[in-house]
Amino acid sequence: MRVLTDQGPVEMDLGFLAEVKAKCLQPIERCYQCQKCTSGCYLSEYFDYMPNQMVRLVQFGLREQALRSVTIWLCSACQTCTVRCPNGINIPEVMDALKEMAVAARLPVPDNAVFHRLFVDDIRRRGRVNETLLLARYKVKTHRLLTDLKEGVTMLRRGKLPLMFSHVKQRGEVRRIFRRLDAAKRRDAR
Ligand code: SF4
Ligand code: SF4
Repeated sequence: MRVLTDQGPVEMDLGFLAEVKAKCLQPIERCYQCQKCTSGCYLSEYFDYMPNQMVRLVQFGLREQALRSVTIWLCSACQTCTVRCPNGINIPEVMDALKEMAVAARLPVPDNAVFHRLFVDDIRRRGRVNETLLLARYKVKTHRLLTDLKEGVTMLRRGKLPLMFSHVKQRGEVRRIFRRLDAAKRRDAR
């Protein structure tokens, strides 16, 4: 449905709220825009839409704006907004659902989404992250081989970048968790 706003005509997707709710299981419809979430968010100055605005975008079915927002990729899931919300809305869960939908829709993702994917890959394989390997793979994937070299050397000198690979003892258990997650995602996609 197309509606006219002060920024021109926008497309409202009436099924969007139900879709996001099915993914994140959050009572998004209860938000009454008190903005307590936004006033406690330490990253909001870097967002294109504030946390309360993200919730509003979903309520109003503004799919394009929500899935293309920078905010969903910058939120650190610190949970400050969640504990402040009088309606018990876990906003990072909403952001995660939107991220999944953006990836499924093959929308362009920023570099920190690449970092996120590599981080999860490492956990999937070894149950823990090897920072050296993670950074090396990130730099290759984002073509930033020569950035932050000075910081890298400092971190190496201070022993912050491990040169030995290790993994958790219960790697099988970690794999089982990921298999269950993959199966759930496949079910969702049907
Ligand atoms: S704190 Fe909760 S109710 Fe208030 S604006 Fe944020 S999400 Fe909505
Ligand atoms: S979880 Fe995300 S949106 Fe909420 S306060 Fe933290 S950074 Fe901000």
